[in-house]
Formats: sequence, structure tokens, C-alpha cells
Amino acid sequence: MVFVNRSVPLENIKCYGFDMDYTLAEYKSPDYEDLGFELLRDRLVSIGYPHELLHYTYDPTFPTRGLVFDTMYGNLLKVDSNGNILLCSHGFTFLKRDKIQDYYPNNFIQRGNTDRFYILNTLFNLSETYLDGCLVDLFTRCSRYENCQKGFKHGDLFMSFRSMFQDVRDAMNYVHDTGSLKESTLRNLDKYVVRDLNLPVLLTRIKEVAKVFLATNSDYNYTEQFNTFFLKYPKKPWRAFFDLVVVDTRKPLFFAEGTVLRQVDTNTGKLRIGTYTGDLQHGTVYSGGSSDIVCDLLDVKGKDILYVGDHIFGDILKSKKRQGWKTFLVVPELARELQVWTEKNHLFEELKHLDIFLAELYKHLDSSCRECPDITAIQTRMKVVTYRMDLSYGQMGSLLRSGSRQTLFASQLMRYADLYSSTCVNLLHYPFSYLFRAPPVLVSPTSDIPKKRCLCVFWTGNFFKTQYKTYIAPPAGRQFHNSFFINHPCIFPM
Ligand SMILES: [Mg+2]
Repeated sequence: MVFVNRSVPLENIKCYGFDMDYTLAEYKSPDYEDLGFELLRDRLVSIGYPHELLHYTYDPTFPTRGLVFDTMYGNLLKVDSNGNILLCSHGFTFLKRDKIQDYYPNNFIQRGNTDRFYILNTLFNLSETYLDGCLVDLFTRCSRYENCQKGFKHGDLFMSFRSMFQDVRDAMNYVHDTGSLKESTLRNLDKYVVRDLNLPVLLTRIKEVAKVFLATNSDYNYTEQFNTFFLKYPKKPWRAFFDLVVVDTRKPLFFAEGTVLRQVDTNTGKLRIGTYTGDLQHGTVYSGGSSDIVCDLLDVKGKDILYVGDHIFGDILKSKKRQGWKTFLVVPELARELQVWTEKNHLFEELKHLDIFLAELYKHLDSSCRECPDITAIQTRMKVVTYRMDLSYGQMGSLLRSGSRQTLFASQLMRYADLYSSTCVNLLHYPFSYLFRAPPVLVSPTSDIPKKRCLCVFWTGNFFKTQYKTYIAPPAGRQFHNSFFINHPCIFPM
């Protein structure tokens, strides 16, 4: 299923762009995060961190993407779009509200303070998030170290949370820059990479109707070796799926001034000297460049491009904000999010009913009223239900919500991704004439807005199905003919 934030008529799309890692390439979770964690952990031990760190192994139930690390107090925070704190852990200890308020008196962080607060937004950050938790846990428990507000003391040595966090960041850059993560991946592609045989089919079909390019931050050698395995297709080299392949793109810089565009010698993997200034040559691989150069080479305008990526900042936010491209965010966690949503539907329903019950209590009261309804029982129950919902996803809860409140990640997803889905392969289920249509929504609807009960009629492809649904603003009735009707109900307000 592909979700829609803003309407995108596919028939207007003249060019499809793809990122590689975690977008076209699906890595096996948690094996891949596990590998990343071990490389980071071992690197820290090699630069002098205690050997006890080697006792920690990656626990996929702990981290959720989009957490914020507070480099002053060493806490991991889950926040909403305004910086209000939804969850807070110190190491692996989850803090209660009063303890959170000792650190953050307004239960709030200024997330614009990027010098202090670091958002761990990418899938590569998951192993790093867990390692940050491990380090705080290790030093907090270790009797050799004294716990201080901003770090740990060992004799005359002070180790701040900030320096610890920086060491993890540096280790992360080390495993990426030295190629150790890439080497281990290439040695065990079957273990770490999911090969979806539908992907070459999708790319082939797209290339029949539009231009296709690949823009990856990875280098040529990795891209070549990886795709030779990953995009293996009878009698077709992987580069033939694309009109243009650009490696070393250095996104997000790629969406701004970019870097020098060079040709890659595909026999040696070396870059040609000088800046490339000619026309697009099919089968040529380029290095660097910028989004403007890609538009020139492919002769397309930004508005005609649908760009598919997994990095909300590097891929989606920058391509939309700076270049006006249509955006498609790949969120692999959605598969699990939807599974929990379905399995724990009774909890979501209960929370919705509690909201309605609360609205009912205040329905006939206005500013002249002096009575004060007792809502403590409802609030307590809301907390219990929210806690149980969070636990259904993992220790840090859902990527997108905490109870009925949205996370920072969810708000960024809604703001910058026109479309989103758990994998780009889901595009296979839509014709290239398809109109992805955004549902009409009121801004932040609250539960006391009157709702309308409607009869919805679907054509499933084989038979008509009817269903009653409640809408805040019922969508207008739709035509019964053509493919648009499939999965899109005709709606009759009752
Ligand atoms: Mg990526």
C-alpha cells in the first residue's frame, strides 16, 4: 500500500529518481543493524573504551528511529513535532515524569538547538542509538566511575556525555569511511540483503514510460559489486535499468551547490580528471554533481521528478524544499507499524472512545460554568492504554506515535513526503496513469467535531463490498467506472 499526503498524478511524472541504500536496497533487519553495532562497538573498544562493552549485543526491541540524544545529560528522548517529551531514557532506564522534569522543567526541549540535541533519523542510526544507550548503561553501573550530571568521573578523568556521543559519531564515520561496513556487507550479501525479484520488473516498467536515475552517496566500487548481485536479471546488466547513474552524490549537498561532476572509468573504478561538461552518455557512470546537473543531463524539470528515498532529511526534505521535486519516502518500519495497528486495534479503539468520552463530558459546559468534571480516571486509563500501545511496538514505542500524539518523525513525514510506503516495490501495484489523491483533512481534527456516518461501496476487482464508515468531512461521491474505483469507495452520506 502507498500512503498519500499530497496528490501526485503519476501521468505527469517524466522522471523517477532512486536512492540506493535502504531505498532500492532492502537490508535484512536486525542482522544488518547487528553488524553495524558490532563494528561500532569494537571500534570504541579499540580506541580505549572498557572491554566490558563487548558484553553488549544489539537488541532490536530497544531503539526506534527518530530519537533525540541530549548530549548534555546523556538521555535518549522521543519527542513530538514541537519538542514536547513523549518518552525519556537514561541508558536503558525509562524515567518517570517527575524525574524527567528534573532534567527538563517544562517537559520540553528546544530541538532547534542542534548543538545540544542530535536527531538520530536514519536507519543507519539505529545501531548508533543502541550503542549510546549501552555506554550510558555501562558507565552508570560500573563502580569505577562516579555518576555526575553531565557525565562520569574516574579519578582525575572526566568523561562528558557529549564526548562519549562524539566518539560514537566518529566511530560511525570511521566504519563508513574505511569501508569496513561495506566490506562485511559484500562478503555476506545473502545474509544482509533482501533480494526482491519484483524490483527489476518495476524498474523495467518505469523505464518504458519515463526516465530513471540512481543517485547514491556510495562509491562506484560498492555500487557496482552490490548491484551486480542485487539487480541480477537475465541478460541485463544492472546499469541498463537506469538512464543515469550518479555515485558519491554527497546528499544533502547534492540538492544544493553539489560537487564537481566527473565521469567514472567503469573498467578501473577510477574517476576521470576534470569536470564533465558534455551531454548524457548512456551507460556512463558519473560521480558527484548536483540535482541541477541531473535535471540538465536528463532534460527534465524538478516538478516532473518523483524522487524515492529513505532519508527524511538528506533525500526527502532537501529535494522537496530546495528543488520542488515530488517525493516518495520509503519507511521499512511501516510493515511492522501496520501489523501492530491491526493486531492491537482494540487499544486504538479504546483510546478513541476515551477521547470521545472526554469530549462528551465538556459538551454542555461553557465559560460561565464553575463546575469541574473529574477526569482523573479517564486520564489514568489513557496513560495505561498509551503505555500498552507503545510496548506493542518495542521499548521505545512506535516510530509514528505515542498514544494519540504524533512523533517528530511522523510530522516530518507528513510535511515533506508526498507519498510513503514500506518499500518502493509497492509502486508495482499502480498503473503509471494513477492519480495518488490526498484525502481531504481538517487541520488537527479533535474528537468533538461532528462526524457523518456514510455507506461506502468498493469494487474489489471481483465483487462489490459495502461498509459503514464515519467521516469528519465525507469525500464527495465518485464515479462508478474505470480503475479509479478499485479500492476507492463511492461514499453515500446517511
Ligand atoms: Mg538511503
